[in-house]
Amino acid sequence: MTEKASTRYVIAGGGTAGWMSAAALSRFAPPGASITLVESDAIGTVGVGEATIPQIHLFNGALGIDEAEFLRETRGSFKLGIEFDGWRREGEAYMHAFGDIGRPLGLLPFQHYWLRAKQAGFAKPLQRYSLNELAARTMRMHRGKTTQGRELPYAYHFDAGLYAAFLRKFAEARGVRRVEGKIGAVEQAADSGDITGLTLESGELIEGDFFIDCTGFRGLLIEGALEAGFDDWSNFLPCNRAMAVPCEGGGDFTPYTKAIAREAGWQWRIPLQHRIGNGLVYCNDFLSDEEASETLLANLDGKRQADPRPIRFTTGKRRAHWKNNCLAVGLSAGFMEPMESTSIHMIQSAISRFMAVMPQAGGKAEQATKDWFNHQSTFEWERIRDFLVLHYTANEREGQPFWDHVRTMELPATLTAKLEQWKASGFIHREHEELFTEVGWFQVFAGQGVEAGGYNPIADAISEDDLRALLDETEMSLIEQVKPMPRHLDFLQNYVNGTARSEVPA
Ligand code: FAD
Repeated sequence: MTEKASTRYVIAGGGTAGWMSAAALSRFAPPGASITLVESDAIGTVGVGEATIPQIHLFNGALGIDEAEFLRETRGSFKLGIEFDGWRREGEAYMHAFGDIGRPLGLLPFQHYWLRAKQAGFAKPLQRYSLNELAARTMRMHRGKTTQGRELPYAYHFDAGLYAAFLRKFAEARGVRRVEGKIGAVEQAADSGDITGLTLESGELIEGDFFIDCTGFRGLLIEGALEAGFDDWSNFLPCNRAMAVPCEGGGDFTPYTKAIAREAGWQWRIPLQHRIGNGLVYCNDFLSDEEASETLLANLDGKRQADPRPIRFTTGKRRAHWKNNCLAVGLSAGFMEPMESTSIHMIQSAISRFMAVMPQAGGKAEQATKDWFNHQSTFEWERIRDFLVLHYTANEREGQPFWDHVRTMELPATLTAKLEQWKASGFIHREHEELFTEVGWFQVFAGQGVEAGGYNPIADAISEDDLRALLDETEMSLIEQVKPMPRHLDFLQNYVNGTARSEVPA
């Protein structure tokens, strides 16, 4: 029997993308595959990216990660949604909470009943009908079934550096070889252009069959060597700078991320066990780095732990995420600002899409597979982009140059279509595997004050009394489910120490 050839995977870069890729390959690559990761301590990682969305459970679950250990080691916290403070106008906040809003009745989702009640003048704000938002606003957290058998969908906040270290431990324990060093040159075959190896500045050559570019914004392999090209989306999302600073704990230990609109951008706040992660996202046409730094430092809940660190980026994506024998994962594939915490998810979805069509031994894949992969990625990225743009275009912060600019920018045609549909009839349609569901769009439309001109007439089939009863009962039932939930901080401490209840007793 001849021995089956295997694939030599080489991962360039050891940030979140590199170590997530390494962990996943170490778990799923067929026996015989070798996995080498090259990273440079001298270059370091981007060091931000600390808020996630619930899909992360799929990744952690596939790897078999123990949740309590994960939270303990990454000093993480729970996350039930994202609060958008001041995005519509100063002094008004809404939440994009995970999970359902209200409950469907018959054929229709709740949104149409809410829109009818709103037209009639008796609908309460959406938060009254969201289990996640009611729990989040009262600083509570719960895992497992509620008294009425529902669950709180949740994600995590975690320390980006500790997360990479956690995954590194996981991957190295499963045979991943880590090489420390700076990549000086990318070697390519003269005929095909395929990458054959990475030459480090030390002179060491790391050969491989398949390469995963996780080198961050620089995209050393996918752009530097393979020239995949970049679609610049600054015309839709003009922010191109961030200033990041950690501070000591202070204020509420929120089980949610905050995205707070500022005069020329917005600020994130991510509470962890040992600190709060903060940053200001802005556009340099409207705010200087000095002003950004001042704004950020003036708005911290605790003493700063470092000097503000500037980060530059251009919003957009590589034209091809998979080219030749190289896959771009993470920031090397592109970037969109983190208001909906989507980047780590996009790392994970790139990895799982790759796993679904993993090349045979030797790392060769046919062009049709790469085309499929790139087509799926483009669809995913464009639809996320549309959702992000919605937050900006629907603002009422008139008289503030940055907000005036983003309110009047051109829109992607796909977003215009969604807006028109909502404005005319209150309909929202999720296409294929779009990341954000109808419930997510509903919350942002409602939160940003985009009025729906109508609702599905089937919602008129019940009497107004029944509609009032439906809304009241929904609200009361959710409040009752939230009442016995422990405070987020207590729950987290008990959970990481192994003493938390996983069920609320009936
Ligand atoms: P990096 O962290 O930059 O890692 C690059 C790696 O490549 C490093 O190990 C580096 O040493 C190595 N490298 C580069 N060049 C060489 C070389 N020549 N030789 C050897 N090694 C090299 N995502 C979220 O999901 N949620 C968030 O809340 C969020 N917030 C963000 C806020 C900001 C301001 C930014 C910019 C991003 C945010 N992200 C967020 C995105 C998230 O940070 C990234 O998706 C994630 O960290 C992955 O980064 P990376 O691993 O691709 O790149």
